Amino acid sequence: MFEVVIGLEVHVQLNTDTKLFCSCPTSFNDRPNVNTCPTCLALPGALPVLNKSVLEKSVMLGTAIGATVNRTSFFDRKSYFYPDSPSAYQITQLYTPVVEHGKLEIDFEDGSKKTIRINRAHIEADAGKNIHEGAVSKVDLNRAGTPLLEIVSEPDMRSAEEAVLYVKKLHSIVRYLDISNANMQEGSFRVDVNVSIRPKGDEKLYTRVEIKNINSFRFIQKAIEIEVERQIEAWEDGVYDEEIYQETRLFDQNKQETRSMRGKEEAADYRYFPEPDLLKAVIDDEMFETYSQIPELPDEKKERLVSEYGMREYDAAVITAELETAHFFEAMLAEGINAKNAVTWLTVELQGRLKGGMTITSSPVDAKTLGTLVKRIEDKTISGKAAKEVLDYLMENESDVDGAIDKLGLKQMNDTGALEKIIDEIIAANADKVEEYRGGKDKLFGFFVGQTMKASKGTANPQTVNEMLKAKLG
Ligand code: ADP
Ligand code: MG
Ligand code: ZN
Repeated sequence: MFEVVIGLEVHVQLNTDTKLFCSCPTSFNDRPNVNTCPTCLALPGALPVLNKSVLEKSVMLGTAIGATVNRTSFFDRKSYFYPDSPSAYQITQLYTPVVEHGKLEIDFEDGSKKTIRINRAHIEADAGKNIHEGAVSKVDLNRAGTPLLEIVSEPDMRSAEEAVLYVKKLHSIVRYLDISNANMQEGSFRVDVNVSIRPKGDEKLYTRVEIKNINSFRFIQKAIEIEVERQIEAWEDGVYDEEIYQETRLFDQNKQETRSMRGKEEAADYRYFPEPDLLKAVIDDEMFETYSQIPELPDEKKERLVSEYGMREYDAAVITAELETAHFFEAMLAEGINAKNAVTWLTVELQGRLKGGMTITSSPVDAKTLGTLVKRIEDKTISGKAAKEVLDYLMENESDVDGAIDKLGLKQMNDTGALEKIIDEIIAANADKVEEYRGGKDKLFGFFVGQTMKASKGTANPQTVNEMLKAKLG
């Protein structure tokens, strides 16, 4: 029997206005190479100057993961030649990173928890992008020098499931802190997975294989499962030593396989040495005090929702996992509605209607509108069924809730006089059925309810209808 061992390196692109060591803007979807200068083009003589806001965001992350924030950290030079890195080295932090010894708690579906240790988070500069067009390769350096925080876990995860929970939790924290837009498709949150196997009970670490740049939670799961299978098969076939060696592999989502990309360099190949062009990075007391005051994190928000509104732990976890959802939910509650109703109308009714790449942020129905709609159910202006129709209408048409209710004629009939008249007419028109009902055919009650609802065009309050019919039919 084998045990799976996984450690993750996550590259988080920080949402600073300017690059790590120069004042070029960090928007890299512009025309290629416009956001560059002598520093990020690595022209001789240009010197780097550290962007202070990168340290501020590092303090926030370090605080959120309960880590040691090194008030003095240093930069190192990592040599490698690649067309998208004009200096032929990367500035990073090897020996004294800005953040060390953190941890993160993951939650399993059954309610149990596990702590994953985080070895370090260090600051480094991103590379540019190589663009391959047929036989021609081009280089765009707009991204060169963009600040990254690389967050490196200990090899503490034991399954693909644990790895995904860890990545989701880290993603959520980074979004709550608002230190990165963390968009996985656009490469602002890139995950490298290190995977090895070992016989159960063995304490030693076996050869790790690194799988790079996997851009969705689902692919992380898949890539690990496939790689684990490859390693186990090699072991069972007696070719583990030949086939499994330290290397970097690529996950191919179409072919559903991992494929060798390059042999993994040893640290010595990078010829690390202290970066001579930069001063030490110092976090002074004022910066530390200001930025260690971090906003409410997902777990804290979850616990607050449970204790404040008596929400189910599971609902609270769904609502708080993503910052946008949590904000939407809280804005709905501001309309003074019941939390349980808010959960249903947000996670079932609204999210069920978001189609074709639409997200909660681009939803045509905003939180205040949805909150008002729920309020109209709670104050009995409309029935829950009618509210679904109103929501359908609001998804397609620009309107406020009350305007839509009027327009669709769905206002609930709370006028008992009018309802009584309808019921009297139905009883008069169905004398035979009334006889049968009174003679013991109880099922016919549903018939009368149906007729009444129909005659009121669905606007009668079902509970009032029931009560009134019971009284009239005896
Ligand atoms: P490198 O930069 O060379 O990839 P790092 O130290 O930055 O090295 O990252 C190593 C990552 O690999 C860490 O997340 C660590 O937990 C993980 N790791 C180390 N050894 C193993 C192993 N045997 N199996 C799985 N993961 C491992
Ligand atoms: Mg690495
Ligand atoms: Zn620049």
